[in-house]
Amino acid sequence: MNVADSQTVSAVLRRAGYVSAERAEDADVVLLNTCAIREHAEEKVLHRLRELARLKQSRPEVKLGLLGCMAQHNRVAIMEKAAFLDVVAGPDSYRRLPEMLGRAGDDASIDVRLDRAETYADITPDYGGGVRAYVTAMRGCDKFCAFCVVPYVRGRERSIPPSDLMREVGELAGRGVKEVVLLGQTVNAYRFGDTDFSALLKMIASIGGIERIRFMSPHPGDVSDSLIEAIATEPKVQPHLHLPIQSGSDRILAAMERGYMVAEYLDLVARVRAAILGVALSTDIIVGFHGEEDSDFEATMDIMRAVGYDSAFMFKYSVREHTRAFHLGDSVSEEEKGRRLSALIALQEEMSLMRNRAMIGREFPVLVEGPARRGGGMMAGKTPQFKTAIFAGDTAAGVERVRAGDTVNVRVDSATGHSLMCSLA
Ligand code: SF4
Repeated sequence: MNVADSQTVSAVLRRAGYVSAERAEDADVVLLNTCAIREHAEEKVLHRLRELARLKQSRPEVKLGLLGCMAQHNRVAIMEKAAFLDVVAGPDSYRRLPEMLGRAGDDASIDVRLDRAETYADITPDYGGGVRAYVTAMRGCDKFCAFCVVPYVRGRERSIPPSDLMREVGELAGRGVKEVVLLGQTVNAYRFGDTDFSALLKMIASIGGIERIRFMSPHPGDVSDSLIEAIATEPKVQPHLHLPIQSGSDRILAAMERGYMVAEYLDLVARVRAAILGVALSTDIIVGFHGEEDSDFEATMDIMRAVGYDSAFMFKYSVREHTRAFHLGDSVSEEEKGRRLSALIALQEEMSLMRNRAMIGREFPVLVEGPARRGGGMMAGKTPQFKTAIFAGDTAAGVERVRAGDTVNVRVDSATGHSLMCSLA
């Protein structure tokens, strides 16, 4: 979402006459777009700000700005630690950035007002190139999970009109984009008038040139039958569903105020797997939430084994000020959180390897993204399940060269937990 937001900021500034510099050292304005979801992310930003302060010492005219959720969440503490900042702007203030930069002088220009109406629907973000583009379909969140700072820093849910999304995706298709990823904090809560998320998927699928549609990040509580049906029946909607569970313990899920219990979640997984052929599932897990006992953690390990996710994002719990869980405390030590996280990651690596190995010998269409990082003439792309496929870019005859944007059929020869080694089929 921050990539998409940065593209919106870029478009706002470009409209005001700014051009982008390749390196911070060459820029007159340097803006850091930030995340407040975990303490670690904030520490990284402060470290980067201290580096940028040196730039400002040598060129005092350079304007430094902090954008995004961290600006929204902690502006007072940030201004104490980084008094040299010229601009501090929250996620709903980007439209006013040119004005804020113009105003910034001896005192920082600060704007962290949340705006229930701001969706940036009329601003086409500066697409960064490539076969895939991120398109924000809705902003904010109404769920208020106990551990999460998002509703406080990104405001309440609001969906972007389908007509604006159709226009944006149509423009992207015209520029060669083949895959769009619809974004929202709880993207499947999308609703604009009578258009719900499954209807939106079908509308986007009608746009010529767009071959694949994905979305991130849905909430399990908002996965409707019509959404399952849309993924199952609309060929452009790819068979990959991210279902963040966060914990495998009912007691912890209740404390997290996630709005579902383990049995309901498993029932959803069963319905998804029954309806969507070859679907890949991924999840998010937080270990060491306040009050998490060994038995709760074991329940999380059990659910990882029971579901067998293709991949998972796993984190240690980090107490965030202003959240509902803030006053509860942080009962699990850092060492224990670390131990649980390592055990969970080791288990998920086993599961990912097992799931990927099950694909050996099978064929998949892969949307080619470009040369693989490992070089050597290898190309990389994604299978419909969002698995990375790596393969030699020449056809068997060695005549035709596969190019980014092509869709090719590959056969899986071998697998690691992170990628599939393939040959052109
Ligand atoms: S649904 Fe996601 S974004 Fe919203 S409060 Fe819960 S964890 Fe945060």
